[in-house]
Amino acid sequence: MAGNIASSAINNALDGFSFVLLIPFLNALFGQSLLPQQKGWLTTLLDATLGRLLDPADKMGSLRTVILIILATVALKNIFVWTAGTLGAQLQEYVTRDLRDAVYQHLMRLPIGYFTRTKVGQIISRILSDTDQTKLLITAVVTDAVNAGTAVLVQVVVLLRISWRLTLLALVVAPILTLVLQPLLRRLRKGYRELRNDLGEMTSVLQESVSGVRLVKSYGAEQYEERRFLEASGTYSGGMVRMARVALIGQPITETLGAVIVVLLLWFGAREVLLNGSLQASEFLVFIAIVMKLLQPMKKLSQLPAVAQNAFASAERLFDVLDSPTEAATDRGTRAIASFGDAMAFEDVSFAYENEPVLEHVSFRATKGDVLAFVGASGAGKSTLVDLIPRFYEPTSGRITLDGIDLREITLPSLRALTGIVSQETVIFNDTVRNNIAYGSAARFSDAQVETAARAANAHAFIAELPQGYATPLGERGARLSGGQRQRIAIARALLLDPPILILDEATSALDTESERLVQEAIDRLLEGRTVFVIAHRLSTIAHATEILVLDRGRVVERGTHESLLAKRGAYHRLNDMQFRAREPDASSVPGA
Ligand code: ADP
Repeated sequence: MAGNIASSAINNALDGFSFVLLIPFLNALFGQSLLPQQKGWLTTLLDATLGRLLDPADKMGSLRTVILIILATVALKNIFVWTAGTLGAQLQEYVTRDLRDAVYQHLMRLPIGYFTRTKVGQIISRILSDTDQTKLLITAVVTDAVNAGTAVLVQVVVLLRISWRLTLLALVVAPILTLVLQPLLRRLRKGYRELRNDLGEMTSVLQESVSGVRLVKSYGAEQYEERRFLEASGTYSGGMVRMARVALIGQPITETLGAVIVVLLLWFGAREVLLNGSLQASEFLVFIAIVMKLLQPMKKLSQLPAVAQNAFASAERLFDVLDSPTEAATDRGTRAIASFGDAMAFEDVSFAYENEPVLEHVSFRATKGDVLAFVGASGAGKSTLVDLIPRFYEPTSGRITLDGIDLREITLPSLRALTGIVSQETVIFNDTVRNNIAYGSAARFSDAQVETAARAANAHAFIAELPQGYATPLGERGARLSGGQRQRIAIARALLLDPPILILDEATSALDTESERLVQEAIDRLLEGRTVFVIAHRLSTIAHATEILVLDRGRVVERGTHESLLAKRGAYHRLNDMQFRAREPDASSVPGA
């Protein structure tokens, strides 16, 4: 920034000087003595730089000298124009990068709640587009303002020297401009904020329809999605056009005002030259030339706020992310726990998302090695319940304890190191098989360990058949793997990390019998020796469960083992009839089913 400011100052000083050099040139032309008659620093400067090179007797020779010096000055000036530009570009790109990185780093540390509240498209447009718009703040405010500002400064100093009265007249334009443009700027700020939002909406539609393209196609919803996108796209462009219309009013206003001022100057200046003789014709010409030139940076300065409004609107959206407290910032836990001793318990836990109760007075206890299964209609609160275990959310009332310690007292990283999750949506990252299994800690595990985990998850066989084995990159969202294979990768991931507490959200989608068997075997191995909380759909997992809790609208309505619950012929029995018998053809292998 310092380099940019210094280079801008130097190039504008040289620029002003090249104009001042016209005074002796014009004087030579008009047959007058070369240096200006009024005493002052301008005359001293010209005398110091040109004085010795000029020969009053040799007019043509002097002219040639002046021209050569003007050329040299302009060349030198342009070297600094380039330097200032390069440094400005670096400043702006690297500040944008830092901003983008900071927002991303902060984003990843925000609590789950933020992500369920905010659309993915809005998040993406913040990271990619808003950081880029904020860049304008640096281009506009730092680079352009410094450049235009020093230009105005140098030129005004020269103008003041030539004639302070005319200069004051020329400068009246500035306050008038500011006043006239104020309401315009307010409009712009508001409009741009809406525009950024519109862009986020458009990104959302795009993101949803691309990631759900299978659904779109199978439901023949192309036209529906198209309409949604065209609408969002139209809204955005319409807003852009409206904003441009407002922003462009600034230009004609500035031009017209400028023209009025120049005409006034011509009139009063001519009087000074012709009637009063207080100004030389050469000085007046240079004065007018500089004033015309002054309009350019003045205009830039007056438009700065308009440009900045756009950037401010984006910056607000960025700071909305940056100002959201991270999990670490709100974590009051101070106790780091190294291991899971003997039990986890929910003690009269209730939970509500923004006033809407989802769990009510849930209590249970899982001792080490237990498998607790949660069943219930969708929307009953099963996912919410297991989300409380790694503290994605905290109970609204009641408490959850781990070996008698309230979860809220335990530091988040140490709690999460003890819990593993295998969820319905098996996320496969755009990386190699090996790194997908050793996700997030590739360096911590040896190839042998990764392979052992894959074998236990029944995944080794199909991985070995991939073109590059464990080094095979998995495409966008693991598209090259079947559903069952993806599940087994996810299971291998959990096996490798070997957490003492496991949350298992079983997939509901049916697999073919062979896949089903391989996945089930893998799950059985995964459950061994762990304390497991499972959102259960598979009959065999349920049959082995230590205790089954039946949830209905956030309450535990029944609890017990598979057999005891079936014998009750209550809610579980009904659920079982509806859900499990239909899916599992060999239900007879499960006792009591
Ligand atoms: P299940 O897993 O049993 O299907 P969930 O725990 O997903 O049930 O949902 C329980 C209830 O909480 C539902 O009524 C659902 O609409 C609501 N819910 C889930 N997630 C959120 C959220 N992030 N914000 C507000 N309400 C939610």
